[in-house]
Amino acid sequence: MEIKEQEVRSIVTQLVSRFFASADGKADLQQDTAVGPGLFSEMDQLIEAAEQAHYELMSMTLEKRKEIIRNIRQAVLDNLETLSRMAVEETTLGNCADKEIKNRLAALKTPGVEDLEPFSYTDDYGLTLVERAPYGVIGSITPCTNPTETLICNGIGMVAGGNAVVFNPHPAAKKTSNYTVSLFNKAVLNAGGPANLLATLSNPTIESAQAMMKHPKISMLVVTGGPAVVKAAMQSEKKVIAAGPGNPPCVVDETADIEKAGKDIVSGASLDNNIICICEKEVLAVDRITDSLKEAMKNNGAFELNNLQIQKITDLVIEDPGRPGHEGMPNKKYVGKDAAIIAMDIGLKVADDTRILLCEVDRDHPLVWTEQLMPVIPIVRMNSADEAINFAVKCEHGFRHTASMYSKNIDNLSCMAKVMNCSVFVKNGPNYCGLGYHGAGFTSYTIASPTGEGMTRARTFTRERRCSLIGHFRIV
Ligand code: NAD
Repeated sequence: MEIKEQEVRSIVTQLVSRFFASADGKADLQQDTAVGPGLFSEMDQLIEAAEQAHYELMSMTLEKRKEIIRNIRQAVLDNLETLSRMAVEETTLGNCADKEIKNRLAALKTPGVEDLEPFSYTDDYGLTLVERAPYGVIGSITPCTNPTETLICNGIGMVAGGNAVVFNPHPAAKKTSNYTVSLFNKAVLNAGGPANLLATLSNPTIESAQAMMKHPKISMLVVTGGPAVVKAAMQSEKKVIAAGPGNPPCVVDETADIEKAGKDIVSGASLDNNIICICEKEVLAVDRITDSLKEAMKNNGAFELNNLQIQKITDLVIEDPGRPGHEGMPNKKYVGKDAAIIAMDIGLKVADDTRILLCEVDRDHPLVWTEQLMPVIPIVRMNSADEAINFAVKCEHGFRHTASMYSKNIDNLSCMAKVMNCSVFVKNGPNYCGLGYHGAGFTSYTIASPTGEGMTRARTFTRERRCSLIGHFRIV
């Protein structure tokens, strides 16, 4: 009897769905429908619903998964302005124009199902096939600095990998996150995908994040944030992908194209008011070119502060300078604010379109050692490229997150790339090029330096499985 391909697929689908449906009966789930689809007020219910969605997704074809991802991308693109505005209004961090750039990048350049390329080995014994399988239900804890961008890139990557996602967003971004997740769910349903494939707690807290970390049905945790959440996740005894803080140094040596370096550093360091972890946080310039570099920066939107203004701004934006040579704490009130607004609070009027406040300081200054996440950028004079590179390693704190260099000396470029040992290293361009914005390659807003995955993608959220077929199946 001849069985057509479509019939075979339908039989397999039925078998898989019967298996998964019987694995755990359908729960009576209480959605927080007052807010939108995919939103829950209770963690257990949320995780049950996501688990059910995962089983349903597993019974669907890869083509269906691709359609789901296509719809999510389109939903984001159709709502760029709303998502960006909501995030700025709710968190008061960053600016709408830059958030639109970041959200568009996440929608377009986050890898989808195509990232799960299977591969095979063949030899005299036969064929071994390697495919990428989902973990199941992934718990994703997201930051307030890139609230929608992280939901988009985690959401697309995790679903592309065949998982369902339970989000516990930052409490300071919950309205925006609820809106984004319900948008995702509508897109999934419109594609014929399962309800609650990407679900969230409508009122997330740090306590609910910690409850999620311990929940037996969460098979993997993906956390994006500062040191506290990374530490908490590492103690969870689960598989963890942790994306932590950075303090990216940017070295400029005497061989660099100084005009380009000045323009690019201002552009990179000011993107979304510097709240992205990969943004340039301190500039280390070889003495010979420091004055011309500062001029180039000032010609491209930097405003240079004098010593008294630097003192005042440091008192304002650094809450705790920490010990010498160690990280301090920024004043959260100024994180992600416009340069002109920060300047105003020290009684300084600068043009509204000022992109960064530039502060020449010495190497022990707390602005150098603290991850401020705001457009107040220190610049330090160095005697040589070697000295700058050595110092960059120190003030990056061993996060191994992001660093950059402007130089035409290939020995210097190679040396810094090697010794920084970072997940992202950018040569002769703004750091955002390393995110795939005006740079080659895919994007991610979860850069897992502590656990080593670097720029996360669909395949990062999958398990590798192999099947060995012995005796036959070579075709040569
Ligand atoms: P944050 O650490 O305050 O919050 C991040 C998330 O973790 C939030 O959802 C928060 O509720 C949760 N959280 C915080 N402490 C927790 C704890 N003890 N237990 C459980 N959950 C906890 O960070 P933020 O202010 O939202 O984001 C800024 C920080 O995140 C910066 O340090 C930045 O460098 C880092 N970041 C890193 C990446 C990356 O890809 N490596 C991306 C974005 C942000």
